[in-house]
Amino acid sequence: MLDSQFLALQNTTLLPPAFGYTSAGILGAIIGSFLNVVIHRLPLEESIVFPNSKCPSCGAVISFYDNVPLLSYLILRGKCRGCRKHISARYPAVELLTACVFVAIAWHDGLGWALPFDLIFAAALLALVFIDAEHMILPNAITYPGIVFAVVARLAIPFLTGTLHFDDLPSLATGVLATSPIWVISLAGAFLGALIGGGSLWLMGWTWEKLRGVEAMGLGDVKMMFMVGAYMGWRLTILTIFIGVLSGSIIGILLMARQGKRDMQMLLPFGIFLGIGAIASLFVGSQLVEMYVGQFR
Ligand SMILES: [Zn+2]
Repeated sequence: MLDSQFLALQNTTLLPPAFGYTSAGILGAIIGSFLNVVIHRLPLEESIVFPNSKCPSCGAVISFYDNVPLLSYLILRGKCRGCRKHISARYPAVELLTACVFVAIAWHDGLGWALPFDLIFAAALLALVFIDAEHMILPNAITYPGIVFAVVARLAIPFLTGTLHFDDLPSLATGVLATSPIWVISLAGAFLGALIGGGSLWLMGWTWEKLRGVEAMGLGDVKMMFMVGAYMGWRLTILTIFIGVLSGSIIGILLMARQGKRDMQMLLPFGIFLGIGAIASLFVGSQLVEMYVGQFR
């Protein structure tokens, strides 16, 4: 038997793909349910652990059997059991989206040490996207631990897998760093990515402020891109900013056209688009960058 066939067989007996993806989806829905609490309470500086969730209309405490991700919303047909008022479709939407993102990451990463790190990173990004959409802030309570998490992942993943897991590492493992241990290269990549991510957002805000005399961006975007840059490395960080600026501009122009405004002052929560760019880069970034670089070879 060929080695590859043997490996494939071994993997299927260890973990049938369907079981793996179903588990990832269920975990995603549960984490999505937790993210709903984080999105709602964190900006209000309420505890994310206590008390139990309440109906925003009648204040009735939602019991655990009415708090099953996705299912409860379907069974209750989107209404509170007590007052029959409509529950926002945002809750099941966040749960479903998180489930889909988790399944996609499991498919992308396979079962390995990188998977839990990528899932945590994506969950943090989703929380930032929805909090920015609702409250127009990117809380330090997520971005600061996110930066620390990125550095820990940078050290842990190469140590656990023994490979150049991160996208930027092959490009950094040449020249000056060629003879350095993996963890040094990985950490250097984190610093370079953070510098490019946070630095370019800071520069964009600074330039806009000088040109227009108004504050364009909060430091939240800068901190978010420190976190994204440290985790994803310089190549995917540039791609993230590119996707963020492009999608943000398109949506901005569409919104302005619809509202008939020519005022560029309209504030878009940029963190949404940076978050979408980062999640997209996590999935297809390496392939996109390789395709682009390949054109110049
Ligand atoms: Zn109610």
